[in-house]
Amino acid sequence: VDPFAFEHEARSAHPAFDVNAIRRDFPILQERVNGRQLVWFDNAATTHKPQCVIDRLAYFYAHENSNIHRAAHALAGRATDAYETARETVRRFIGASSTEEIVFVRGTTEAINLVAKSWGAQNVGEGDEIIVSHLEHHANIVPWQQLAAEKGAKIRVIPVDDSGQVLLEEYKRLLNDRTKIVSVTQVSNALGTVVPVKDIVDLAHRAGALALVDGAQSVSHLAVDVQALDADFFVFSGHKIFGPTGIGVVYGKRAVLDAMPPWQGGGNMIADVTFERTVFQPPPNRFEAGTGNIADAVGLGAALDYVSRIGLANIARYEHELLEYATVRLGAIDGVRLVGTARDKASVLSFVLKGYTTEEVGKALNEEGIAVRTGHHCAQPILRRFGLETTVRPSLAFYNTTEEVDRMLAVVKQLARK
Ligand code: PLP
Repeated sequence: VDPFAFEHEARSAHPAFDVNAIRRDFPILQERVNGRQLVWFDNAATTHKPQCVIDRLAYFYAHENSNIHRAAHALAGRATDAYETARETVRRFIGASSTEEIVFVRGTTEAINLVAKSWGAQNVGEGDEIIVSHLEHHANIVPWQQLAAEKGAKIRVIPVDDSGQVLLEEYKRLLNDRTKIVSVTQVSNALGTVVPVKDIVDLAHRAGALALVDGAQSVSHLAVDVQALDADFFVFSGHKIFGPTGIGVVYGKRAVLDAMPPWQGGGNMIADVTFERTVFQPPPNRFEAGTGNIADAVGLGAALDYVSRIGLANIARYEHELLEYATVRLGAIDGVRLVGTARDKASVLSFVLKGYTTEEVGKALNEEGIAVRTGHHCAQPILRRFGLETTVRPSLAFYNTTEEVDRMLAVVKQLARK
């Protein structure tokens, strides 16, 4: 039982979508930077935490803290209940059919490594092919590259058009009977492109391959239903959806997880150990060796409950309007080149400003208390596709406002005029 459920309900029962009420849930938004109220446009890197998540973490450590599954005492029971309740919350949030399909990991990076190291080691061999898209974050490139190098497999890349959208016809041509897995992001962290992952998953299955969807940038912006999506794996990070750092999720179809070997060995993941042999637990425990981020899993549950109360449909609608507002105005500034102009986008603006390095733009914004990411966003291949090494990347969340966008535009306009 979530001891905060009632309080959350009372605090977060926002009438329709009231951005000012939502902002009051996030204490850090009152922070001042360089004498100005903080504007947080670095949501693609990480998101801020509502008070209910902060309170839930404090409550866990004050009243429930224990290792899980390991003792007869009361606190072990409380901690285990809290942890397993969070797993059920994740299941419900992404529409999985069973909590046995929900594995807690540190984040998206660890999630993809788990799949590459466990499923990949068992199923990918010499001459096999792994498909990713040109949009991928390094976390969805490097583990596959390591696997390919080890096995003598090949990485194939779905190209994108000039708007930053994947080319489905080219993708179809890449699929063949050597394709073992297709691993794609649902939303590009560098450009904001919303990728047609359902089509990609269906085509992968028709070719006899599995599909992994990287939901790091999508879960906080779009409603996800893993059963409708039909992906074999869906992965995301808690910290990008208003939850704590150090916690993330691998959703895997039950039959797929059942057939996978553990990737790490130790406590928690075993049924029986002798010096001769070990019997492993079924999923999800088989993939959760050692003491995990118990409190942070509980905090993630509180974050997902919070997002569910506001409603992803409301969030998506509000953010879409805010992104449109920002895109039109930013794109109209002389010297601004927007990168990533796909029709379907979420949260992210990526741009360069003539006459300035991206770092100079980022510093000028920081002077005014506005936080944006500048750099390669851990997605060098896609930036190079557009002839760039770095961009300025404001990324929006549902607690951002048009007034904040205006503050950013004023700085960029002033730089452009100089
Ligand atoms: N995939 C995408 C699309 C991302 O945007 C990120 C983080 O920016 C990751 C994977 C890696 O996530 P984490 O650093 O939380 O493991």
